[in-house]
Amino acid sequence: MASHTLVKKQGGTAHRAALCSCPRPTQACIRPWALLIERLGNFFDEERDPLMTQTEDRTSLSTEDTPLVPIEKVVALSKRRGFVYPNSEIYGGVSGIYDFGPLGVELRNNIRRYWWWSMVQLNDNVLGIEGNIITHPRVWEASGHVENFVDRLVDCKNCKRRWRVDHLPAENLEQNKCPFCGGELTEPRTFNLMMETYIGVVEGERMKTYLRGEACQNIYLDYDNVLKSSRIQIPFGICQIGKAFRNEVTPGNFLFRQREFEQWDLQFFVHPSEMQKWFDYWKEYRFEWYKGIINHTDRLRFRAHESNELAHYAKQAFDIEYRSILGWQEWEGIHWRQDWDLSRHSQYSGQDLSYTDPATKERYIPWIVETSGGVDRTFFFLLLDAYEEEPPSDKDKEGRTVLRLHPWFAPVKVAVLPLQKNKEELVTTAKGIHSRLKRLMVAQYDDVANIGRRYRRQDEIGTPFCVTVDFQTLEDQTVTVRERDGMTQIRLAIDELPGYLVEKVTWK
Ligand code: ATP
Repeated sequence: MASHTLVKKQGGTAHRAALCSCPRPTQACIRPWALLIERLGNFFDEERDPLMTQTEDRTSLSTEDTPLVPIEKVVALSKRRGFVYPNSEIYGGVSGIYDFGPLGVELRNNIRRYWWWSMVQLNDNVLGIEGNIITHPRVWEASGHVENFVDRLVDCKNCKRRWRVDHLPAENLEQNKCPFCGGELTEPRTFNLMMETYIGVVEGERMKTYLRGEACQNIYLDYDNVLKSSRIQIPFGICQIGKAFRNEVTPGNFLFRQREFEQWDLQFFVHPSEMQKWFDYWKEYRFEWYKGIINHTDRLRFRAHESNELAHYAKQAFDIEYRSILGWQEWEGIHWRQDWDLSRHSQYSGQDLSYTDPATKERYIPWIVETSGGVDRTFFFLLLDAYEEEPPSDKDKEGRTVLRLHPWFAPVKVAVLPLQKNKEELVTTAKGIHSRLKRLMVAQYDDVANIGRRYRRQDEIGTPFCVTVDFQTLEDQTVTVRERDGMTQIRLAIDELPGYLVEKVTWK
């Protein structure tokens, strides 16, 4: 019997393969691949602008009165289903530090990979690097972090709550009053946010340095190496995803403000005369990017920085903000960094980081457009955006919790469920489908509890598709495919599954 047989009828012969790895595939093995290719066929028909891939028209799911999701709901779900755990919980935890569980790590990886794909892979003038967390300590003197990376903090003398001065509402700041209880606030104290560490073991020879307070510094440090080791020319960008560490004085709101977190940055190097053009381009690009991944698109906006917030070299800056139960909060910053970073590193390192235009021979320090956001904040806002508790309805008598994550990001793409656990043929067929599908995407097999409960379990973790193997499957090798959001069901031949699912869950 050929190893590609997936469904074997009693006394019957081999037929219907979902996917196989035979050295000499038969027609039955090739068919699923042919269907997959057919589904992706129109792919070559249209030429797409990178930005266009992200602007698929998404109508907002929310109306004015759609309630905002309380953070506790998302925290509870994250713990219960294995997205996020408090770090060192058995020792009482550490404020502002979290671990990611089995589903969390899948979601995080998908978010990272999609960012990388749409920033580095799609843009011919953008390259990626991965710099280290520890750098030479002079880096942080040049960047200004040792001197200026500080938060001013006040405590309430009455309720003991702690506030960052720059986060106090103007009225409370003026009246020196706690926003929570109205109590008197202490004089501001200043704290540096950099986390210190040491290189070397011998006392006296050890060098004090820092865990990086922002990931982007590596990009400035490697800028010249990237330029010399690739054939890229200005205008071009360097991207990086990496951990950053800050001794935040007010960590909290779950993943929103942590002490260890991950940032994604683009630093785009331009001729000064083209700064405005590229600033506008990336500002728009990043806004569309976020719009393309959320359901509640009306909860996204730009906030222009006030003149008193702008760095001395910045002509303008914008935050892309998302509205959640925390109010409007920064998701990503779009910054006009001018020649500040490369000039400072030239000055502190003694290395000339200017650029010579190969055509005009003009020599100048490139100006930089920065887009800087966070993997963790994206993770957190996506959960808040996707979480919904649906009351009982005709379609679901008990009501359900559903995570309406974009299928691209869903940690599990498909669950394969035999209708009954005690029917061997159903179980064997479902396991066969599962073992093939898991080679293409994250797939779960589940035969515990009745089918309704299993659907709800998958809805709660955002699985976009459930494939149910029932008695009809044994007759005609078709399965039910249930879609998460509308709970609609269609019937598909088993060998159409790979093409159907891959097309739905893959960005392209
Ligand atoms: P804030 O004013 O909220 O402290 P920031 O303006 O200092 O933030 P940046 O230094 O510009 O933030 O960092 C860029 C991005 O990194 C932010 O837009 C956010 O997505 C993410 N980020 C910054 N600090 C944290 C943190 N403590 N925890 C999680 N993500 C963070």
